[in-house]
Amino acid sequence: DPSAGNAGPSSQPSSANHQLVDQRRVSELLSGNNSPTPPVVYWMSRDMRVSDNWALLQGCQEALQRLQLASHADTAAAAAAATAAHSSPALAQPPLVVAFNLVPQFLGAGARSFCFMLKGLRELETKLRQFNIPFYLLRGQPEDTIPQLVDALRAGLVVSDYSPLRLSKQWKQQVAAKLQAKGVGFQVVDAHNVVPAKIASNKREYAARTIRPKIEKLLPEFLIEFPNQGLPPIMPTAGQGPHPPTPIDWPALLAEVTEAGAAVPEVDWITPGEAAARAALDGSQGFLTTPRIAQYHVKRNDPSCTTGLSNLSPYLHFGQLSAQRAALEASKLRSRHREAVDRYLEELIVRRELADNFCEHCPDYDKLVPGTAYDWALKSLEKHKRDPRPITYTRQQLESGHTGDDLWNAGQMELVRQGKMHGYIRMYWAKKILEWSGTPEEAVENAIYLNDKWSLDGRDPSGYTGVMWSVAGVHDRAWIDRPIYGKIRVMTYDGCKGKFDVPAYVAYVESL
Ligand code: FAD
Repeated sequence: DPSAGNAGPSSQPSSANHQLVDQRRVSELLSGNNSPTPPVVYWMSRDMRVSDNWALLQGCQEALQRLQLASHADTAAAAAAATAAHSSPALAQPPLVVAFNLVPQFLGAGARSFCFMLKGLRELETKLRQFNIPFYLLRGQPEDTIPQLVDALRAGLVVSDYSPLRLSKQWKQQVAAKLQAKGVGFQVVDAHNVVPAKIASNKREYAARTIRPKIEKLLPEFLIEFPNQGLPPIMPTAGQGPHPPTPIDWPALLAEVTEAGAAVPEVDWITPGEAAARAALDGSQGFLTTPRIAQYHVKRNDPSCTTGLSNLSPYLHFGQLSAQRAALEASKLRSRHREAVDRYLEELIVRRELADNFCEHCPDYDKLVPGTAYDWALKSLEKHKRDPRPITYTRQQLESGHTGDDLWNAGQMELVRQGKMHGYIRMYWAKKILEWSGTPEEAVENAIYLNDKWSLDGRDPSGYTGVMWSVAGVHDRAWIDRPIYGKIRVMTYDGCKGKFDVPAYVAYVESL
């Protein structure tokens, strides 16, 4: 029994026979050779958490199965290991390790995002230790570092988490090409979506209304409690093996990225990491615990109300919080706050997962090209391309919040100062960029540049989709033809004034 050597905070059984993960979440990129051997490497990328992580659970499940197979193959060694389990390490090396790869060019990214991520990983390293899972922080290109780690550990399988973004897919392809030559298996697990993106739909969905019924039909199967409340099984104790992780100098690393990314400094209203994420969801002051959730359906479109939204998107983006956990806990409040909870679940599940669907099926999700924007939108924007633009602003004017529109400037300054702009203003903000840019293509580029640079939840499918919805009508319909915008939906200052207290929002941002 591979769990014979268990040691740790609790003694839940880690049986290899029990399926922890619905295998519909798993895409097998490489089946590997026929002799499944431990250890398993979980190459963590999008889902940076220990709890409620289907990719980690899949890694555990595979590792335990492989141990069991190995012990059947060599009964004598297994017996010796079992006898030794109580006094000394049962295994020569850990059956499962987690690796995160830092890509050097990302060091050019802002300290804001980088520190948020690294502080989360620092906490994760400590938490993983309670489950006997070592953590490797690698630096370089994944196509080099991951296969090198696999070689050093003589690993039989790599598990990773799913992302629809281009760079992530490219890395996985490059790593797969190298692993194939070694006969090592490679699995990708959708740990981010409640209904795995590839199961929800196998094509580009036209709008929320077309993906909603597909997701809702599958929710009873996928919106389920995690095994053992989302905690991974404790892995058997083991020796360090041939290649233990190099100790990580977190203070030095944080100092390095703080200096390199000083142009976009950290923010202090949000605490990074898995524990803080969970507290922000349903701790004593959390979104679901305080009266905030009860008002969500009424207040979510009111930027002058600073507590109307969950503010959880940075945690969801970095995978420090599982959307499935947020959905499970919110659902428990449905009998009391039906309308509010339904609205929250619509955003958290349907809209968020529609964004993954868009990026999965439109590889040019951040460009205004055929196949990304609908034909009606492209034709209409083209027709209005040469419309006179009474006002245009450069990227620098936009970035510094120097336009003639105080509401827009406030949105931009909220983004710059807080690393998060209110969701309603985000739509207005992006649409105005279309109005003020020389071309729609330039508008898309500027909006994505500013969002990815300043927003803690930037570089996310929801961001690319949000910009494309605003500027290019993706997932929207054609509206009345107007100058510059064509048939793209327009949002106006006066419209905002009619919906919420604009001066109050502007004053709030000025106070930051
Ligand atoms: P809540 O209102 O509390 O929503 C709950 C959750 O639902 C969010 O955390 C988010 O995961 C999801 N959600 C809400 N609205 C949307 C939406 N329109 N599309 C997809 N998912 C949604 N979201 C990002 O995560 N990263 C971005 O970079 C980003 N950029 C955007 C840019 C533009 C131009 C627009 C129009 C939208 C963008 N969004 C982005 C979507 C949305 O505005 C944010 O998800 C939301 O404001 C996050 O704040 P919250 O967690 O407090 O939201």
